[in-house]
Amino acid sequence: MAAPVPIAEVKGTARENRTAAHSHIKGLGLTSDGRAVPSGAGGFIGQAAAREACGLVVDLVKAKKMSGRAVLLAGGPATGKTALALAVSQELGTKVPFCPIVGSEIYSAEVKKTEALMENFRRAIGLRVKETKEVYEGEVTELTPEEAENPLGGYGRTISHLLITLKSAKGTKKLRLDPSIYEAIQKERVRLGDVVYIEANTGAVKRVGRSDAYATEFDLEAEEYVPIPKGDVHKKKEIVQDVTLHDLDVANARPQGGQDIMSMMGQLMKPKKTEITEKLRLEINKVVSKYIDQGIADLVPGVLFIDEVHMLDLETFTFLNRALESSLSPLVILASNRGLTHIRGGESLPLAAHGIPPDLLARLLIVPTHPYQQVEISKIIGARAKTEGLNVDSAALDYVTELGVKVSLRYALQLLAPASVLAKVSGREGGKITLDDVKECEGLFLDAKTSAQNMGTANGFIA
Ligand code: ATP
Repeated sequence: MAAPVPIAEVKGTARENRTAAHSHIKGLGLTSDGRAVPSGAGGFIGQAAAREACGLVVDLVKAKKMSGRAVLLAGGPATGKTALALAVSQELGTKVPFCPIVGSEIYSAEVKKTEALMENFRRAIGLRVKETKEVYEGEVTELTPEEAENPLGGYGRTISHLLITLKSAKGTKKLRLDPSIYEAIQKERVRLGDVVYIEANTGAVKRVGRSDAYATEFDLEAEEYVPIPKGDVHKKKEIVQDVTLHDLDVANARPQGGQDIMSMMGQLMKPKKTEITEKLRLEINKVVSKYIDQGIADLVPGVLFIDEVHMLDLETFTFLNRALESSLSPLVILASNRGLTHIRGGESLPLAAHGIPPDLLARLLIVPTHPYQQVEISKIIGARAKTEGLNVDSAALDYVTELGVKVSLRYALQLLAPASVLAKVSGREGGKITLDDVKECEGLFLDAKTSAQNMGTANGFIA
């Protein structure tokens, strides 16, 4: 592989925020001796045994004793499995990657399922890179003589050189810049009056302050110049950057296809498609190990959460088994709300617990989650409403809680958002959600079970 893309240029590829529904969760809410604080702490309510078990898992990960093993959260819908997995990642540290997927997500026409799974493994492994850079700090004081005469001129002028003033304790120095730096300056769209950092070794330019002057397009030509004096006017700047291994894969992947006209056309139509090969990943791993050995980077293994794990098939389970052995494995947390069921792709085999093959089951620490009591449901709904900044009156909260008990917690939580829209539309003071808003929403939106029953009747009727 050619020199890897500099870390500073690696863009995060985090997908849309799938954890918004859990923004009230800030951790497992355990005391220092690992006991669950009944409610409120870390945003978690009830589910004490599961939280304490997850706390032990966090300890095992920190003691590096989870390798080759994984966790299975087993329990009914909306019993907090995703919330628990997120909390585990939060307990492991700040900026620890959390990658939640649903088993069915790995199937697509474009990417092999094991590839898709590997991609998510690498989304769940972070790398914290610490770099100390020597930078020159300077203010752009002059562009050209013409520029000086007409500092607020328009776009597209050709200027022949750029002068910047570099300031330091030693005094002020005026420099005409190296043409190789012009390009970087151009990219940053530097204007008169801006403050810029110029990296000592690479000449990379970063704009840190913005002037009010009009934007200028530079079209610079090579001219006589004074190179930046090394070690003269500079300061040191520590830069910490968090990326995932997947971010590095993407940044270093070549566009897919060859150089023939058809594949170039293909690239025009689908410009973002990149090819991440096994070979590339191995190369990236080598570079990462080197960074770690040199002490400029630390590995930050995160959490890969796979919900509805029964959607994985035999082949992917085999792959998963192997991936758990790797020294570059995140903590894998699986979730299931199924009991005994067929393993996908192994329908001729005996039924298996949670649809998981016995060899993988043997490596799992299984943590059950239990349905909530009424008082817990009420508190969870209250916590969500608070986090979303919703004002719910007590009759409405009682009724939503009742729906949470009778129908499901998920349905109850989902009614909050449309009810808040109704409350706002009514122009009520403070947008307070009342019982009427909730009842109106209940009439407008069905829960999944009722909806399925309705369809059943309709189909019967049509037949
Ligand atoms: P499924 O497997 O069906 O997707 P789940 O078991 O993963 O469901 P969650 O999505 O974690 O359930 O929970 C549903 C909602 O309730 C989320 O907004 C979650 O943050 C919240 N929640 C669940 N349990 C708790 C709890 N004990 N304390 C606070 N909030 C909770």
